[in-house]
Amino acid sequence: MILMANGVIEADLVLINGRIITVDKEDSLVEAVAVKDNRIIATGPTSKVNKLVGEGTEVIDLGGKTVLPGLIDTHTHPNGAAVRLYEINCRSPPVKSISEILEMVAAKAAELEPGKWIRGTNYNDIKLEDKRHITRWELDEAAPENPVFISKETGHLYVVNSRALELAGITKDTPDPPGGSIDRDVSGIPTGLLYETAGSLVSNLIPPYSVDEIAEGLRKVWDQFSEWGITTTHDASAHRDAIKAYQKLLGEGVHQVRTLLMVSARRPDGSDPLRAMTTLGIRSGFGDDWLKVMSLKIMGDGSGSGGSAAVYTPQHRGMKDLGLMTTSPEEIERLTIGAHTAGIRVSIHSIGDRGVDVALDAIEKAQSLKPISDMRHRIEHNSVCTPKQLERIKALGVAPSSSIGYMYGIGDDYVENFGPERVRWLHPHRTMQEMGIIAGGNNDYAVTDYGPMVQIYEAVVRKTMTGQLVSPEESIGVMDAIRVYTWNGAYIGKEEDIKGSVEPGKLADMVVLDKDILSVPQEEIKDIQVLTTIVDGRIVYQR
Ligand SMILES: [Zn+2]
Repeated sequence: MILMANGVIEADLVLINGRIITVDKEDSLVEAVAVKDNRIIATGPTSKVNKLVGEGTEVIDLGGKTVLPGLIDTHTHPNGAAVRLYEINCRSPPVKSISEILEMVAAKAAELEPGKWIRGTNYNDIKLEDKRHITRWELDEAAPENPVFISKETGHLYVVNSRALELAGITKDTPDPPGGSIDRDVSGIPTGLLYETAGSLVSNLIPPYSVDEIAEGLRKVWDQFSEWGITTTHDASAHRDAIKAYQKLLGEGVHQVRTLLMVSARRPDGSDPLRAMTTLGIRSGFGDDWLKVMSLKIMGDGSGSGGSAAVYTPQHRGMKDLGLMTTSPEEIERLTIGAHTAGIRVSIHSIGDRGVDVALDAIEKAQSLKPISDMRHRIEHNSVCTPKQLERIKALGVAPSSSIGYMYGIGDDYVENFGPERVRWLHPHRTMQEMGIIAGGNNDYAVTDYGPMVQIYEAVVRKTMTGQLVSPEESIGVMDAIRVYTWNGAYIGKEEDIKGSVEPGKLADMVVLDKDILSVPQEEIKDIQVLTTIVDGRIVYQR
């Protein structure tokens, strides 16, 4: 510890003359902050913080710029996003039509030897001008010699060609697998569209990406996160090779985004991660400030934009029935009880109102068998959540990770699939706030592909990409929306003692913005850029 001649600690870094939104209990604004090693050691007026400046101190004069605590995106898929970079990008916009996708598939087929897999990603039928799905027969024309597998941006729905169906042995007579559905035409012939676990019948045949491939893609994802000001994220599908890739990058000194792991309960190789964790005595919180086990991720129902979410009344698009549970309620209960009793939190994917209830039933059962206070089991997405369900969430101390960030990119899909009445209770942030439910926020990256500023805008304005307002009665104030992506994120990661606000003792994770988020017109919040991202007291991004 370096002390100056006057006996005062010398800071390593100070930010002065700014407008620092601390997100402390009083929502205080301060001018300056000082950092020593990787921690914040002081906040207050510039005159006070300047007393900690010594010869070795780096001084950043903010010139009035606004600073936030490092942003926490509580549900992303960094390892999945990393490998999507190797696949045909069907994202709309800019992709407008089925014919554009078929051209890209044909171009890829021309590059590859016959028999090699062609993978596409980020596909969304609703956003195409054709307003329908690609068929296996269209894909056959584009790639007659190669199996093709294209996933929807949500990863809950897939389109494949005949070659892929043949390899998977899927015919007219193949029954739907548990937790999935094979779409068929009027004569019962599979159309190439596969819902949920039916996609695994094909994807299990594709060679998995290597640890090196995941790690290389992750470098790009981390650069993107730093540019967006994300300093902590919660990986919602952590698996063995992804965890190896995270460790590989950390071993190479890439300390850029702190990562909490939701360990996927279900693996295509049939392994049992819950058993592995309980065998080793690994509980939630195991790890360090860079890589930490947070929870067991359990897939609950289906997808909102894909039309497979579990609901109480039929959807208008997609499966047009009550949707499905990709994991049976009995299995969700078994996994939840197993994790809970071993001190492991659960993160249960729940989009539809029926799906949310199934998840809450399992958590309620586990808590009744062995009451443990402050477990903060999580509901992921928590999309359609009615007051009755919110009461249960409150009573069970459940911590929702709300996909409010979906609103901009796929909010229109939700309105179309669920209908206007049901979206009244889509990501109900105002009601949750009034009830004292602490929710984090996310956009399920790379299901949608923008950063937290757009998501904060959504929590405030609730307007989709096309300008449609969705349940504006659930909008919250700007300061409250900032809190969702900072302190609340830390809380639902069970890390509010070390993150989520700019206060002495906390990790030195902060972002500098180009505009003042508290005073710009609300419509401009989504366009705010991050100028500097600081993690662990070090600048990891500078515009
Ligand atoms: Zn997800």
